[in-house]
Parts: sequence; structure tokens; C-alpha cells
Amino acid sequence: MKIGVLALQGAFIEHQHILERLGVETVQVRLPAQLEGLDGLIIPGGESTTIGKLAVDFGLLEPLRQFGKQRAIWGTCAGAIFLSKDARRDQPILGIMDIVVERNAFGRQVNSFEIELEMPFLPGQNGRVYPFRAVFIRAPLIEKVWGGASVLVSLPDGRIVAARQGKLLATSFHPELTDDDRFHRYFLELVQSPFEP
Ligand code: GLN
Repeated sequence: MKIGVLALQGAFIEHQHILERLGVETVQVRLPAQLEGLDGLIIPGGESTTIGKLAVDFGLLEPLRQFGKQRAIWGTCAGAIFLSKDARRDQPILGIMDIVVERNAFGRQVNSFEIELEMPFLPGQNGRVYPFRAVFIRAPLIEKVWGGASVLVSLPDGRIVAARQGKLLATSFHPELTDDDRFHRYFLELVQSPFEP
């Protein structure tokens, strides 16, 4: 299995380190040709406007849209914004996932927070499920999910922070900034699953 990490800007190294720890071959993607032969792709957190602008400059928008029609893509934070069909602002996005996001929904950098969330779809230990520590940094909220997308994780107050659509995955939080690799393993399962995007 070979997984690409979009390396235009943001926290791509952290994703790469977790994947390598799991024994997965990784590739830093900056050009369309580097998508060839990949089984899946991670779009990291960072600044979605910058990632979008660079994706336009490097001619990546259309190749990434095509990639997402057949293969798995996981967007974390800015990456989730980039996957959405509506970011409520005029900025370059892929527009391939049936979600509306609200950028910086939790306030500024100082309002960043961590919270343990129940994610029963992740593997437990000794037959027991245990929560996943979700890290939110100037995070977007998934305001609306429709069409082919469904809610995967919500905050205790019901606000949506992760969604899935076939092989497309969007999380407001940053699993690559924890030692817990269960979310990455979940993505690898998705990569290998027979689901249609
Ligand atoms: N606030 C950033 C944006 O709107 C996302 C933050 C992040 O990726 N940690 O693009």
C-alpha cells in the first residue's frame, strides 16, 4: 500500500510519521504526476486558503478531484475544508464532499482545545472501546452533511466534527498530533475497502 500526503503547506510530516510507523510507504505530493500509483491521499491541516492557492498554482485541483472519484482521501482540518462543497467563502476548494463547513467556528488560536470523544468505530483494547483524544486547532465545524455523506463523530452538544462519504473522510480535528494511531488505521481500512466514493 502506498499513501500520498499532500505536502503544499501544513502538518504533512506528522501524518507521514504515523503512516511510516504503521509500516506504510508514503509519498509527499506536490505535483499531479506524484498521484500516480497511490492507493490513498491525506490532505493535512494548515491554512485552507494557502493550500487552495498552491493547489491551483501547481495544477492540482482537477487531478485531485479525479483521484477522489476512485480512491480514498482523508482531509484533516484545513484538509476537510478543502474537500467540502461549500466553505461559505470564495476560496479554491475541491468541492467533492457533500458537507458545508464553517471555518474557524470555535474562535481564534487561543480557543484551541482537546477533548476525549467516543468513537465506537475505532478498535478498542481487550474488547473494550475507549475514547479518542481529539485536538482542535482553529478548527472548522461541519455545519451540514447531506447526499452521500454521513456523520461519523459529533461533540457532546451534537455539533459535527467528522464525516464520511464512501472513501472520503473529513475530520475537524488532528489525529496526527496524538500518539494514538487508530484513526490512521481506520483510514487505511477505508483505503482497502470496496466502497465506492
Ligand atoms: N483555520 C484553518 C483554515 O481555516 C484550519 C486550521 C487547521 O487546519 N488547523 O483553513
